[in-house]
Amino acid sequence: MPKPMHRSRSMKRLKRVTRTGKNVIHYRRAKPSMPHCAICGSELNGISSSGGRTRRTNSRKFGGVLCGGCTANVIKLGSRVENGEMKLDEISIRQKAYVLQLLAH
Ligand SMILES: [Zn+2]
Repeated sequence: MPKPMHRSRSMKRLKRVTRTGKNVIHYRRAKPSMPHCAICGSELNGISSSGGRTRRTNSRKFGGVLCGGCTANVIKLGSRVENGEMKLDEISIRQKAYVLQLLAH
């Protein structure tokens, strides 16, 4: 049984064969993953790859949550709903959450 500290899934397991032919498992801390867009799932631009709590992000609306294209779409849909050109029911459920956030402000 591995040590409790090695049972975490944030530890990468590397299978290695020693010179004596023994199979051993080496553990490494997994690298933090890049943040992704909450709608389309693409990797977000303009965010540093390193750093945890102090990681830099962009300061626009939905910065660090949505990618630029999806933010533009959400703002477009938000103004259409505000002007009565579109109904909330016509928007996909993922975009709707952010359109509602936009309209609440
Ligand atoms: Zn996106």
